[in-house]
Amino acid sequence: MKGFAMLGIGKVGWIEKETPAIGPYDALVRPLAVSPCTSDVHTVWEGALGERTNLILGHEASGEIIEVGSLVRDFKPGDRVIVPAITPDWMDVSAQRGYHQHAGGMLGGWKFSNSKDGVFADFFHVNQADGNLAHLPNGINVQNAVMLSDMVPTGFHGADLAEVAFGETVAVIGIGPVGLMAVAGANLRGAARIFAVGNRPLTMDVAKFYGATDFVNYKHGPIEQQILEATDNQGVDKVIIAGGNIDTFSTAVKIVRPAGIIANVNYLGSGESIAIPRESWGLGMGHIRIIGGLMPGGRKNMTYLANLMSCGKLDVTPLLTHRFYGAEFIETGLELMHNKPADLIKPVVTL
Ligand code: NDP
Ligand code: ZN
Repeated sequence: MKGFAMLGIGKVGWIEKETPAIGPYDALVRPLAVSPCTSDVHTVWEGALGERTNLILGHEASGEIIEVGSLVRDFKPGDRVIVPAITPDWMDVSAQRGYHQHAGGMLGGWKFSNSKDGVFADFFHVNQADGNLAHLPNGINVQNAVMLSDMVPTGFHGADLAEVAFGETVAVIGIGPVGLMAVAGANLRGAARIFAVGNRPLTMDVAKFYGATDFVNYKHGPIEQQILEATDNQGVDKVIIAGGNIDTFSTAVKIVRPAGIIANVNYLGSGESIAIPRESWGLGMGHIRIIGGLMPGGRKNMTYLANLMSCGKLDVTPLLTHRFYGAEFIETGLELMHNKPADLIKPVVTL
């Protein structure tokens, strides 16, 4: 089969590989639509996972099942499925401890284009199909379904980790597709005031569509100054970080109220350590929690997030700014994610 791969740091191209073999619990899936991700950019151009050779890229896809293992119960060839970017080993003890994302070790659930080949191929392998795949409801098209792989669950995970509650004030730092879904998730969880921190006008407009009430341009002065001014120096109850870099944590600590939560879903592709400003962190006694998380995969999570789309409570179409038809455009999509032109939120390639 053919796959679009990382050939080395900063190098990509098409390669030939054996079609993956499946075990008794697994499935072989053909992608119907895929989307390149900022995480692919960190992996290829920042070398964030280290050197990789001939690793097929991609972890966002909707697909059709081609073959299932002998012990797969609920899926059969021909079924159309939502494919989560994170596909944990549900039989690992850490899954029972509540950290299925880290089954098998730190970030162990992140298999596609990390510990095995990804979805930018004629076919890809899914471990533990019954636990990891979800049936694609008829009302959701294959392009929108791709946003369920990673963008929706990651942004919503940010809102979950921040424990956003009715009436709260929330700042979402970074409003690319992940941050926009964090805005939508915070809004659905009942936030009152939502600060969207970004730069490009298109992302600000889409943030408004998803429920943002206030807009901060990080290029127009320090974020903390703008948010503290707008909140009468009170700051915000919660911060969700979906963009920026290791210095963004310092900003977040400065704008969050005592006992607030800072939830990071940003992939820190470079830098050594994050700094926590001592005074703003209440001299170490401010009850300000900082947590960062890999998005949860899992059939239940995918099915429930899809319910929001089926019922018309979540519309992902504003994210899909660039649509392509044919595998040859996967590279174009990845280059777009790399270069981030002003009119881009997310490309989707229909196969
Ligand atoms: P984008 O690059 O599309 O969006 C990043 C956002 O951050 C943009 O709004 C950008 O503004 C803004 N930004 C850039 N620099 C700064 C800064 N210094 N301060 C504040 N805001 C800034 O990324 P995605 O939305 O696609 O992804 C966000 C992150 O989430 C990535 O790191 C990605 O790898 C990660 N990720 C994590 C997952 C998880 O499981 N935790 C899963 C999927 C993705 P502008 O571009 O307008 O200048
Ligand atoms: Zn992704």
